[in-house]
This record gives sequence, C-alpha cells and structure tokens, in this order.
Amino acid sequence: MSQPTDTTTQDVLLQTRAMDAYYGDFQALYGVDFHLNRGEAVAIIGANGAGKTTFLRAICGLLPSPAETVTFDGQAIGNMEAYRIVQAGIAMVPEGRRLFPSLSVEENLAVGGHTQRKGPWSLDAIYSLFPILGERRHQPGTQLSGGQQQMVAIGRALMSNPTLLLCDELSLGLAPIIVREIYQMLPRVREQGTSVLVVEQDIRQALDAADRVYCFQEGRVSLEGAPNTLTREQITQAYFGV
Ligand code: ATP
Repeated sequence: MSQPTDTTTQDVLLQTRAMDAYYGDFQALYGVDFHLNRGEAVAIIGANGAGKTTFLRAICGLLPSPAETVTFDGQAIGNMEAYRIVQAGIAMVPEGRRLFPSLSVEENLAVGGHTQRKGPWSLDAIYSLFPILGERRHQPGTQLSGGQQQMVAIGRALMSNPTLLLCDELSLGLAPIIVREIYQMLPRVREQGTSVLVVEQDIRQALDAADRVYCFQEGRVSLEGAPNTLTREQITQAYFGV
C-alpha cells in the first residue's frame, strides 16, 4: 500500500478512523482509515462488493458507528442521526437516483432544499448547472432519460447546500458520453466551495475526476494516492487483488 497522505498539515474536512461496519453478523468494512481535505475531490474505486456503498452509508449515519470514528468539520458524527448529518452539511446522491416518481423535476429538487442551509445552491443555480432540467422543470422525474434523472439526483443533493457532496456510482447504467457530461459539473460544484467524494466503478473516470483516490478491496483500503502517483499495476493489484 502507498504511504497515507500526512493529515496533520492539511485542513481535514472528513476523517474516518478504524471504521468497521456490519450487516448483522456480516462484517463489510475492516478498520477503514480515510480522510478528505476541505476543497478536495476524492474518489473511491473498487470491485462489486468491496464496501464502497457501505462506507458512504456509514458516513451518512445510515449504519451506526462509534461517535469518534467519523469526524466532519471538527465534529464527531459517527453516532449522529442521518437527518442531522444532512443539516451538518453532508448530502448524498444515492446509487440508482431514487427520485420521487410522482413529483416533477422542480418538486424533486425542492425536496432537497428543506434543510434551509444557506449557500450558493438554489433552483436557478441548479438550472444553470444543468440547463435541460430548467426546460423540463414541470415534467415528472420518471419521464426523463437516465442521465437527466441523475442530474436531478445531483441537483436535489446540492439543494441542501452541502459542504460535502457524496456521489454513489454516478455512471451506473449510463452511456460513456452521458457520464462525461455529468462529470462536467464537478469543477463548477467545487468552485462553489463544495468538496466531493465519489464512489465509482469506472476507474478511468475516477482517476480523471479526483485529486486523490482510495481503492477498497474486500472491505479494506488496498491503495491510496494521487492519480499521477499510482501505476496501472498498483491499481490493478489493489482493485482485483491479482
Ligand atoms: P457495488 O458496486 O456492488 O455496490 P460496493 O463496493 O458498494 O459494491 P457494498 O454494497 O458496500 O459494496 O457491499 C459490501 C458487502 O456488504 C458485500 O459483500 C455485500 O453483499 C454486503 N451487503 C451490502 N448491503 C447489505 C445488506 N443490506 N445486508 C447484508 N449484506 C449487505
């Protein structure tokens, strides 16, 4: 494994220390040490079942941890309830988008604004980021293409004006050209001061988008580093374990 980045000199926004996670008796994460600096975009890559989604769920409070296992913006949040974590400034774009089918694009976006956190994101700002959503604002979410639904899911999360945006498999089920279009939003999101953590099976997309990458393998961190410091062999070994 590469040397972990020194966290003492950086402005750490999110940190996990020795995070374990369980589904009943089944252990899905083993001692995950992770950090994300303020302003960074970090990607987690790894094969099916490596524990990537579980890690995001644990950060969001959907799986319990001891309080000090997760710190965010200087606060121990490991045992905080999910809704309070959203209020603290973490928003998740879930795998599979999970829009409200009977609601319009605009109504889906408005749901994300219920926290009333102050910040740069509003309906107008989301329509500027994804103009097609403005054109379709009155259509039900279900009448949109997969890529457009993904945009709504991202917009809904941004509407809570998060300090940290978590994205789970944005590329799932989408054509490569659509995935590229969606990832084009990242620099604009970061310009607004929002840090980003993406979970991504598309390794190339992850390496392109992120300042640093973690690879998970069977519930453990198998590699960490900046994309330009990692060799293809290291990544293959960390991803597949071969
Ligand atoms: P994928 O890309 O398939 O979503 P992942 O890296 O996100 O993979 P997780 O979904 O976090 O992996 O799953 C990690 C492990 O936990 C897997 O072995 C999976 O079968 C198991 N797991 C996930 N969700 C549950 C659940 N609700 N109950 C029991 N086991 C689960």
